[in-house]
Amino acid sequence: MPPKKQPLHVLIVGAGLGGLSCAIATRLSGHRVTVLEQSPSLGEVGAGIQIPPNSSKILFSWDLGPALSAAAVHPEAFIIRSYRDGSELARQQMRGYVETEYGAPYLHIHRGDFHEVLVEKARELGVEIVLNAKVTAIDFEAPAVTIETGKTFTADLVVAADGLKSRCRELFLGRADPPKDTGDLAYRILVKTEDMKQDPLLRELTEVPYVNYWIGPDQHAVCYLLRSSNLYNIVLLSPDTLPPSTPIAPATPSELHALFSTWDPRLTRLLTLSTAATKWRLQNSTELPSWVHASSRFCLLGDACHATLPYLAQGAAMAVEDGAVLGGLLKGIGRGDGLGEVLRVYEELRKKRTTRVVRGSSELRGVFHMRDGEKQKERDRRLRGGERGNPMPWKEGRVQRWLFGYDAGAEVERAWKEGLEAVYGRREEGGSMSKL
Ligand SMILES: Cc1cc2nc3c(=O)[nH]c(=O)nc-3n(C[C@H](O)[C@H](O)[C@H](O)COP(=O)(O)OP(=O)(O)OC[C@H]3O[C@@H](n4cnc5c(N)ncnc54)[C@H](O)[C@@H]3O)c2cc1C
Repeated sequence: MPPKKQPLHVLIVGAGLGGLSCAIATRLSGHRVTVLEQSPSLGEVGAGIQIPPNSSKILFSWDLGPALSAAAVHPEAFIIRSYRDGSELARQQMRGYVETEYGAPYLHIHRGDFHEVLVEKARELGVEIVLNAKVTAIDFEAPAVTIETGKTFTADLVVAADGLKSRCRELFLGRADPPKDTGDLAYRILVKTEDMKQDPLLRELTEVPYVNYWIGPDQHAVCYLLRSSNLYNIVLLSPDTLPPSTPIAPATPSELHALFSTWDPRLTRLLTLSTAATKWRLQNSTELPSWVHASSRFCLLGDACHATLPYLAQGAAMAVEDGAVLGGLLKGIGRGDGLGEVLRVYEELRKKRTTRVVRGSSELRGVFHMRDGEKQKERDRRLRGGERGNPMPWKEGRVQRWLFGYDAGAEVERAWKEGLEAVYGRREEGGSMSKL
């Protein structure tokens, strides 16, 4: 019998949805994990998030199904509506259909609840989370990171999951690399459904958990129920009018009403119920040449390397997939093993897919935001058509299968059988990741 390998110590920068997913998967592969988070407390912004089945499949394999299902709403269907009168242009069944087709549900959840479920799981597994730990410098060879207080942490591998404005990415590149403006911003609003139920025009929107998309010239709106259907999550996507130095700002009700005054009366009425809204500049990334440092002791993950417009609702799902794949690949690796091959495979498995999602989300902007005219009429005709050539990615058969059918566990197993086993030796059977 070969001697048992010593677990790695993996240092993850950032306790967002991506960093925590990576922490869970890496810990489940038997390694010691420390997460460094700059904030003084753990949490997420107060808004909803969609969890597609390619992500829920991973999360459920970590036994998070009961906690997530209890906190989430299962949408019945996606409905794409015309902006003017709300008439239906396309519909895709979700509840029941995605479970049967992809083995996991589509979920709508409050970000705070999602984050809390991941934090609890990470802690239960013994992941150490260090708060007030803003990383300011990295020694890529050691590897080691230094935080603002001057304290240094060493490890066998550093994973940078520090988001869109990643400091670690800039240190890795050795130059400034600010995120790219997309030209759009998002208003995020939460409305109480008990207020909607008082209004005959809005009551219907609270009765069945549809995700409603209204698409129109230069803008679109995405709305769905949250938290036992007690909240209605509204995201309005509009041209970016924020001053260059202001990425986030409060929004006034009159501003929202002015932008959507000619839209479906249900949407305009809905906006009269909003008392507080925040607008966020939407930025994304251009593809990096590589995610892995030449030392083979540092890599990037999540928004830090593939931030996207949220139009496919896949940004966090990509970060969860990254975490599951990286953590899964690390099972069977020990201290003293060179990490070059395993990190090369991680990048190979993840970069192509995430680049396609970033591009696909930007392309969808053009589809959603068409101005009235011949092209828009043709788009609507195709939206009303069947699965083939449908510009709605959740309806187009091939695109849907590519997005929702991704199986992170199978990718990991294949990579080991087809290459990593020859480099690192056979890994032990069993373990939680084998459930993926
Ligand atoms: C309007 C909108 C709607 C969206 N809707 C969806 C959706 O429905 N579905 C979906 O899948 N995705 C969605 N997304 C995308 C999703 O929110 C992101 O892709 C995801 O949250 C990225 O996670 P992350 O962990 O990579 O980064 P982040 O969530 O940004 O986490 C990074 C963490 O690192 C910490 N950090 C940063 N710098 C440092 C440092 N120097 N040292 C230590 N810690 C640091 C931060 O404090 C933070 O906790 C949406 C995005 C937007 C803007």
